[in-house]
Amino acid sequence: MKHNRIITLLIIVLMVYSASAQLDLSKSKLEIEKVGKDIYLFVQQTNITNPSSIVYSSPELSILIDPGYKQMQLSVKDSINALNGGSIKFIMTSHFHLDHVQAMENYYNNTTILLSSNQQKNISNMDIKNIISSDDKYHLKLGQEELEIHSFPNTSGHTDSDALFFFKQANVLIVGDYLFQDMYPRIDLKGGGGSIDGYFKNIDYILSLADNNTKIIPGHTSFKEVKKRYLSKKEYSLHINKIKESISKINAMKTKGLSIEEALKQGLPEKFKYLSEGAKYVSQDKWITFIYNNL
Ligand SMILES: [Zn+2]
Repeated sequence: MKHNRIITLLIIVLMVYSASAQLDLSKSKLEIEKVGKDIYLFVQQTNITNPSSIVYSSPELSILIDPGYKQMQLSVKDSINALNGGSIKFIMTSHFHLDHVQAMENYYNNTTILLSSNQQKNISNMDIKNIISSDDKYHLKLGQEELEIHSFPNTSGHTDSDALFFFKQANVLIVGDYLFQDMYPRIDLKGGGGSIDGYFKNIDYILSLADNNTKIIPGHTSFKEVKKRYLSKKEYSLHINKIKESISKINAMKTKGLSIEEALKQGLPEKFKYLSEGAKYVSQDKWITFIYNNL
């Protein structure tokens, strides 16, 4: 059993870094966790990555944030139907990375794609209909619930068109790839127009919205066994401080005159090891290289 798990994790790691990786439905599944009244976290646990989808489902309507992969949509739709909510009225996204938005092309007819103005430029090479453009901050009244949608103060963060979603009554914050649980983050500088500085400034913005009871939902949940797949404000702060501390250490090595090879050889102290264990997107070596070359 344990051996199987290790093999599974190894496969995931290999697939994450294989550019030609294809989604294999036989190695993929949907894991669902309720995170608030009428709000569900759907983890698309595939052989390539594990993007989060968020589903709001009340008797009147359903909303899908980050539909994820095309091939997963049959499971997603079946699972939404099983919640007995209304049909999917709106689809939105935290940002335009394939693992979060590919399935937007699957939804037509009664579903509206709701995008912030800076997300619109990403749709030119996608076959998407029924689009409504919105302001940078707006809200939807959903019965007792209220959903706030914010663009970030720094346009350039994880990408250059990120949005966050705040279910005010349930106190659930959807932060997309501003949180990789238990992992180093990916910041998409070249292809996606992101920036390291803007990424952390936008995290300060997230923290300014949260209180001690807020549930912060990651764009990618941990690959390890965890008790819950969201973080409190305090846990999120601690996680981010750890990431920032790793950056200071890498910076210090560079300032001391270590070459990239020497910095990689020295590595980071033991306490950072958990961020690079098991399946992940960014290994410690990749993180050191990324920060060393870009800061
Ligand atoms: Zn992303």
